[in-house]
Amino acid sequence: MRDVVINMQNVTVSYREDVALQNLSIEIKNGEMIGIAGPNGAGKTTILTVVNGLGRLVRGQAKVLGHLMSAGKKGRDFRLCYKTASLRKLIGYVPQGCSVDPGTPISVRDAVMLGRYGRLGFWRRPGRDDWQVVGKLLEMVEISHLAERPFGHLSGGEQQRVAIARALAQEPRIMLLDEPTTYLDWRSRQEILQLIKQVHREKGLTTLMVTHDPKDTFNFCDRVVLLQQGRVAAIGPPAKTLSDAVLRKVYGESTICCQGGFY
Ligand code: ADP
Repeated sequence: MRDVVINMQNVTVSYREDVALQNLSIEIKNGEMIGIAGPNGAGKTTILTVVNGLGRLVRGQAKVLGHLMSAGKKGRDFRLCYKTASLRKLIGYVPQGCSVDPGTPISVRDAVMLGRYGRLGFWRRPGRDDWQVVGKLLEMVEISHLAERPFGHLSGGEQQRVAIARALAQEPRIMLLDEPTTYLDWRSRQEILQLIKQVHREKGLTTLMVTHDPKDTFNFCDRVVLLQQGRVAAIGPPAKTLSDAVLRKVYGESTICCQGGFY
């Protein structure tokens, strides 16, 4: 039996009057690859925030890699909390794509090294071993040839590869990805999803991937969590879970479904 590494019980998170998650309970086992889908505002990103130790729980509790977070403490306290900082060292985070100014003076190699500072501490300079780790990651995500290029000169797909390598540079146990295929064309999307699956397997990670398109979870995720207004509408293996009826219920009756995805 694989260990449960993320256990959320009756988690409620709100931002002032907006309730982002309502009484949500999910268990995720070591090594699972989980897709988190649902319409805009359903609470997908907020789940990642809770796993990362930065969520403001108003009810319930979340245990992540043995670190317990419960209601009653303010988010700001969590951030200052030493235990939460040590949790975040175990978690790699790939944020939603943002465009980088082409003039930003940072090379691809240095951008990946930024991910290493969580382990190094800001007062230590990277040593030869650290540069070797970065070199191997650039190979893994197949951008060694771009190592000296300015990060801002890369295509969207290449920037996503850098973001994945940077998250891996801190040697995480859990990987969180927030809409990693947004803004990518169809081919780049498939390539990035393949890469995410490959690093998930090779690094023995537990992976949570947020996507606005449930189709992204087919062939890639062990289970999908489909959210609707902060609650779990359906959970399970994508092919069994994302029926046309379920997708119409969550995304609206006018949704035209096609093999579990939709257009
Ligand atoms: P999703 O990722 O599914 O689009 P989010 O988790 O980002 O959803 O947001 C869930 C709800 O919480 C939404 O109603 C959103 O407006 C609200 N919300 C998210 N972040 C904040 C914030 N920093 N301040 C106020 N409200 C927020």
